[in-house]
Amino acid sequence: MKNNSSDVKGPGEATVEHHGVAQEIDWEDFRDHLATADKDGSRRWLYPKKPSGRLHRYRMAFAWLLIVVMFTGPFVKISGNPLLMMNIVDRKFSILGQIFWPQDTIIFAVAMLVFFTCIIIFTTAFGRLWCGWACPQTVMMEMVFRKIEYLIEGDGPVAKARDAGPWTMARVWRKALKHSVFLGLSFVIGNTLLSYVIGSDALMEIIRDDPQDHLTGLGFMVLFTLIFYGIFARFREQACTFICPYGRFQSALLDENTVVVAYDNKRGESRGPWKREQSHEERKAAGVGDCVGCRQCVVVCPTGIDIRNGVQMECVNCTACIDACDATMDKLGMPRGLVRFASLNGISTGAPLRVTPRMMGYAGLLVALGCLLAFLVFTRADVETTLLRAPGSMFQEAAGGRLSNLYTVRVVNKTLYDIPIEFRLENGLTGRIQVLGGLDFVVPKEKLGQRSLLVELDRSSLQPRSTQIEIGIYSKGRQIETVTTSFVGPGTLSAPVR
Ligand code: SF4
Ligand code: SF4
Repeated sequence: MKNNSSDVKGPGEATVEHHGVAQEIDWEDFRDHLATADKDGSRRWLYPKKPSGRLHRYRMAFAWLLIVVMFTGPFVKISGNPLLMMNIVDRKFSILGQIFWPQDTIIFAVAMLVFFTCIIIFTTAFGRLWCGWACPQTVMMEMVFRKIEYLIEGDGPVAKARDAGPWTMARVWRKALKHSVFLGLSFVIGNTLLSYVIGSDALMEIIRDDPQDHLTGLGFMVLFTLIFYGIFARFREQACTFICPYGRFQSALLDENTVVVAYDNKRGESRGPWKREQSHEERKAAGVGDCVGCRQCVVVCPTGIDIRNGVQMECVNCTACIDACDATMDKLGMPRGLVRFASLNGISTGAPLRVTPRMMGYAGLLVALGCLLAFLVFTRADVETTLLRAPGSMFQEAAGGRLSNLYTVRVVNKTLYDIPIEFRLENGLTGRIQVLGGLDFVVPKEKLGQRSLLVELDRSSLQPRSTQIEIGIYSKGRQIETVTTSFVGPGTLSAPVR
């Protein structure tokens, strides 16, 4: 029987049988080359049709929420700290107004572990929903740049037809306007990225000051602008297919229980055009599936694939094809969900989403890492003190028959305000602490302060062997940290000290 699904043609057609109906379908053509490349490897420019529908509206609302967070993140401040900042240059990070320093590497490492574990669990359960709904690349491409393109050049098929024709004035001004807007937007995005890297205050300095003083910063502004322009104006979906490693390793994470955007082949095959005179029931009785071959799911796809070919690496789970197919089903009076969010198991067996042991294992790991992260964040001090005995120093006889040891103290102030520091002897020892080099020891904000400490102890406080001393670090009468070290006396010179 001749193929009655006019949308699936091409070289290497195969004859297959579904519900007793033979079809000639080129099933394998999509395996030979990427959707965005011809067989000779040259780029196939995509002109996706404007998406619309229920899921698209949700996606748009979510995307705009993300866009607001992305663009305000470095500028919104909590207690003087940016909401979000990744200052790689100074190795200083701010998350929700909490400043993290190189000394907090362990917290950062755990945060990264939690983040990646989250992605793994999420992908195992819900496929690449992140890509289509939350990835900054897709959000900016589909919700900002593509929308502008639709505004200036019209819907995908219109723009495609114009591009296939000769260069007219209308085409020239549209292209010029589009690329100017793209360049301007890329400049804004580039500057926002720069403010994530160096902080919004440093960015403002670059903008306000003499350009001669900030040639490096200006160089990065231009570089980031050009990179983003290249990505959003030219590279587009290729970034997801060729560069993003997430798309590559998804095949290791997906299984038949993963919920993905999927075409219900049991219901849809064999495909056949819609006939007015044939009811849905008659169509089914004739062995024809619900897919009418309208290709709306294909023309709307921003990565150029045909979801009916199964789960594919290029699919970013944007759900545009679900909306498109639902619109067709609505028009023809058939139930929605021929293309839907479902697991392959769910489609073949009708089974609901199952929690697999692998997902439970990942979730357990995530909870453990989350607890560790919370513990590290909540027990993290505003200052970090290191106390070392002065190299090569011995004990000294001090006034009143006391013995003294000389230490070097280093205090890192992780806050955005100056902290006056005092030292007190703890653990019931009698003696005193002198800060050498000035009475007031104030550690400036975001800086490291260093002083020499002379610790004097009464002989009655000394232990026969090593004497452990605890020194409380106080600021304005409030204890903020305690450090422990060893005190060297006449009988303890050989004892290990720090
Ligand atoms: S196949 Fe559907 S969900 Fe996947 S990228 Fe294309 S339109 Fe989006
Ligand atoms: S939109 Fe639905 S009916 Fe149309 S080709 Fe795609 S799967 Fe078939």
